[in-house]
Amino acid sequence: MNVIGGAQVAASGGAWYSIRNPARPEECLGEFANSTRADVDAAVGAAAAAAPAWAAIPGPQRGSLLFRFAELLEASKNELARIITLEQGKALAESTGEVGRAAAEARFMAGEASRPAGSVFPSDKPGSTCHTVAEPLGTVAAICPWNFPVVTPVRKIAPALAWGNTVVFKPASLTPWSAVYLMQLLERAGVPPGVVNLVTGSGSIVGDALIQDRRVHGISFTGSTKVGTHVYETAARRLARVQLELGGKNPAVVADCDDLDLAAREIVAAAFLCSGQRCTALSRVIVTDAQADALVERVVSHVNRIAVGDGLEPGTTMGPLVSETQFRTVAEYVRQGVASGCGVLTGGHPLTDNPQRDGYYYAPTVFDRVPADSPLALEEIFGPVLPILRVRDFDQAIAVANGTRYGLAASLFTSRASFIDEFSRRVEAGMIHVNHGTASQPHVPFGGVKDSGQGACSIGPTAREFFTNVKAIYVKW
Ligand code: NDP
Repeated sequence: MNVIGGAQVAASGGAWYSIRNPARPEECLGEFANSTRADVDAAVGAAAAAAPAWAAIPGPQRGSLLFRFAELLEASKNELARIITLEQGKALAESTGEVGRAAAEARFMAGEASRPAGSVFPSDKPGSTCHTVAEPLGTVAAICPWNFPVVTPVRKIAPALAWGNTVVFKPASLTPWSAVYLMQLLERAGVPPGVVNLVTGSGSIVGDALIQDRRVHGISFTGSTKVGTHVYETAARRLARVQLELGGKNPAVVADCDDLDLAAREIVAAAFLCSGQRCTALSRVIVTDAQADALVERVVSHVNRIAVGDGLEPGTTMGPLVSETQFRTVAEYVRQGVASGCGVLTGGHPLTDNPQRDGYYYAPTVFDRVPADSPLALEEIFGPVLPILRVRDFDQAIAVANGTRYGLAASLFTSRASFIDEFSRRVEAGMIHVNHGTASQPHVPFGGVKDSGQGACSIGPTAREFFTNVKAIYVKW
């Protein structure tokens, strides 16, 4: 059911669509509203109507509701994690971690609602004052992908609420169940009707109607660079604000590193968590010739310890891919890589003969000696495929790291202090990690450059730049 103005409603056209368990695609998990433009119209209307009263509630009171929401997330961890694993496929421990992370981000934003909302400036005129206040942007659209069906919506909804905005939430078509559950928690936390509205259904209908609606003042979008570009163009025509979190092709550079065991362990974890379907997944290793053989051996040894299976089974460390589309995309990249002569060190094949029946399982795959201009090295595969690129030296490693259209996250594994500074300055990325994988924290700004993002960083205090307008007030007393 959609949630519009606090009421659970079916899609106006009466249509439903079903979702399936990627570990056993013949298992139907439930039916969800296949919404129309009319449903978006109603949801935006409800959000716009609720906006003045919500904005008038003092920030600390809005924060209290968010603290309560964070508590409910923690208390529902087991149930919600199970839903994530069922509809998305990731291992249960990862799903549990995702819910805990969402609670931490909600808690941070709850605190933000009590922080100063402006600045006081000295006036250049006697008897006058100047100050600024951050006001709510208004009604925002939260358009989310399927890879983090809980933390991504919370990363948009919590700051929106903290700073006095109302929301229309459109989850990915593949993961509406987590979204329905989140709406129940928001209601239980005491968020008033109409403040957050849910519309499920396809991106080309629901998403498109949302980004075109003039009553939507801002669009916080996480997803592919292709759709993000369409969102940006459409929003620009009516000067709506955007926050775009897009794809990545995140490098791990290894140079003069004394602890290759640690490097291999961190790289493999960051590359294969969520079956590689993370925007911040490490998706290429760039290693100097001097350390390549030793690193490659360790990486393969760690990859071979990954236990692929149903995410609900104890012991599973990597689940299936989320959908048949994703499964076919991965298989096609691997086929092209093999055809172009790249060497497969491990994996390189599906793990089931009949994926539509037995699950979208693909073997964790490592390619060696991948040329820097190969699609494996340049394009976001979004799957369990790790290409290794060998380079002469650190300078060439940086050039290769910067040689894609993306600029989200980058890791460096080194024991040489001077490389840390050089890497941090010269690598084109929104987030730099030294001697660990690409993991973010719940209070630190998160975002990318180049084709990886646009607009204010999410997470942490910078999110305010997206969710508020600054008003300057001059008074002659
Ligand atoms: P998509 O871009 O396909 O979809 C993202 C969302 O946009 C979905 O809700 C989708 O709906 C919706 N959408 C699709 N078409 C339109 C449209 N025309 N107008 C408005 N909305 C639309 O991405 P995926 O869901 O496939 O997610 C994977 C991508 O997300 C990867 O490229 C990944 O890198 C990126 N990502 C980036 C993150 C970051 O923080 N930088 C984090 C997580 C993922 P529907 O599901 O119905 O198609």
